[in-house]
Amino acid sequence: MASDIFGNPLPPEAPEDEGLPPPPPQEGPGLFGEPDPPAAAAPPPPPAPVAATGTPYRVLARKYRPQNFADLIGQEALVKTLRNAFAQGRVHHAFMLTGVRGVGKTTTARIIARALNCIGPDGQGGPTPDPCGVCAECRAILADRHPDVQELDAASNNGIDDVRELRERLRFRPAQGRFKVIILDEVHMMSTAAFNALLKTLEEPPPDVKFMLATTELRKVPTTILSRCQTFHLRRVPQDQLMAHFQRICGLEAVPAEAEALAMVARAADGSVRDGLSILDQAIAMAGGGGVTAEAVVDMLGLAERGLAVSLMEALMAGDAAAALALSEQAHARGTDPGVVLSDLLELTHLLSRMKSVPALRKDPALPEAERVRGAQLADRLSIPVLARCWQMLLKGMQEVAQDGVDRRAAAEMVLIRIAHVAELPTPGDLVRRLTEQGAGAPAGPAAPPPGGGGLRAIAGGGAAMAVAQAVAAPVEAVAAPVVATYRDIAALAHGRKPMLHAHLVHSVHPVKVTPGRVEIRTKPDAPRDLAQQITALLLETTGTRWTVALSNAEGEPTLADQGRAAEQDRRALARTHPLVQAVLEAFPGATIEAVRDASLDNYGLPPPSADSDPGRDFAPPDAEPAGLDDDISPED
Ligand SMILES: [Zn+2]
Repeated sequence: MASDIFGNPLPPEAPEDEGLPPPPPQEGPGLFGEPDPPAAAAPPPPPAPVAATGTPYRVLARKYRPQNFADLIGQEALVKTLRNAFAQGRVHHAFMLTGVRGVGKTTTARIIARALNCIGPDGQGGPTPDPCGVCAECRAILADRHPDVQELDAASNNGIDDVRELRERLRFRPAQGRFKVIILDEVHMMSTAAFNALLKTLEEPPPDVKFMLATTELRKVPTTILSRCQTFHLRRVPQDQLMAHFQRICGLEAVPAEAEALAMVARAADGSVRDGLSILDQAIAMAGGGGVTAEAVVDMLGLAERGLAVSLMEALMAGDAAAALALSEQAHARGTDPGVVLSDLLELTHLLSRMKSVPALRKDPALPEAERVRGAQLADRLSIPVLARCWQMLLKGMQEVAQDGVDRRAAAEMVLIRIAHVAELPTPGDLVRRLTEQGAGAPAGPAAPPPGGGGLRAIAGGGAAMAVAQAVAAPVEAVAAPVVATYRDIAALAHGRKPMLHAHLVHSVHPVKVTPGRVEIRTKPDAPRDLAQQITALLLETTGTRWTVALSNAEGEPTLADQGRAAEQDRRALARTHPLVQAVLEAFPGATIEAVRDASLDNYGLPPPSADSDPGRDFAPPDAEPAGLDDDISPED
């Protein structure tokens, strides 16, 4: 059989890897994201450890590969379901195993293959959830040499021809075992044509064929395939279970290991047993016969960089741009990519925010000392809004650094400088609170620059504008008058009901006078001729009363549209004179009033007539004829 059929997806198992510790995991970034290749403090390749007997060293991931369901850690739900299926003799003909890299998908598939084919020590057994491990079938599968258990890497067997060939082979009965078991790893890599070719086989497989599909990217697998499989989600193994597992293995290997070291390995494994064991392999190799220490693991995982991230965060949050740049220079000198520096800071920001929410995290042994102690101090000093702002700026900064053609280092430095500058600025919420506490009448020049900070500098207009909006919106009384007492009430009746009429009422009509049952208007030349009839119809329809609509030659008020515009200008002028707003504008030079929002305003941007206690807000000029803008409706004279 072609050797490529037995694609072996596990690097630690590749024969050429025997005797050498596997490379550090490329996934499973742990808290601070994996360093980019240039940033990785690549430990010198340790000497290949050799067991005392002289037999070649077997990597832990292979040596301790789970042999049966009981060995599968962290997958209790899956194991329970599979055990039930075997107990009832109802084993589905196609499984889809999904989960992150190294979580045990193909391992599970092989255990199922053994469970299906095991004949027991006496050669009389049937399918069992507890394969014996000693019968010929079990041993052949364990050794990857069972003719009926085929493991294919879909990444390299992804064409339609591969699937045809596979189908061809499935026509024959199993050569040795009870079932042919086809393990298709990374199945999402198959071409559409290959999927389609596979579909038919999956639908009606020969009775002695079982499919085990595995994928890290379930969403890339067509639903037509998924619907024919029983899907199992292998979850990331929780950190404490991983740590306990590693402790057990160190015990079996007779390698002393500090608990803190193993906790860090478990954290870096990020839910993957295989990645964790690869790291542990490396740590044991580096210990060179001694114990695995936390210090060595910190070095090995490049966790020293994380100490730098904490220092950098301290400098940034103190507004000390110079110190921050010096630290970034250090990272650069060590070969750390500027993007990694920012992403470390991002992760740290997340950690600090979590520390504020979950105090127990401060005792998490998986955190390096720098984060546990200094991180906790930082978390105490910083508020959630400040951390949230930092998070936003870092996210945006990382995009800038990633842009094509950008000098990454310069871009990253600009981000750091920006963060240092705003670090000690109060957040908009803080500012309003502080100013409000001082009293709105306090002289402009509000928040004294915080001690040691970079001073108050320009900030994006949005924040200040938001503060302004909050500040001015205070005097609010919502009033809705269902009665038709003003011209605006009439216009509002058309709103949403007669859009064209509404537009005319707002833009083309000068209200002159409104009294009960009668409205006088002066229309602009662009108003439709039958506008009066339309208004009459509207009023009749909505109020059930016949109104008189009279066209007048009197000047009347400006149109509602003009009134709204004027009112907006008034509000801006008013806002600009408000002490609180002046204080904000002074604190943030360059800030502009973006909008003045007043929840009490109606659709026309005008205050409710009855709530209007401020004569300054009256629109009509003092000499104008009293009209319907306010509530002083007098009987017609
Ligand atoms: Zn067996």
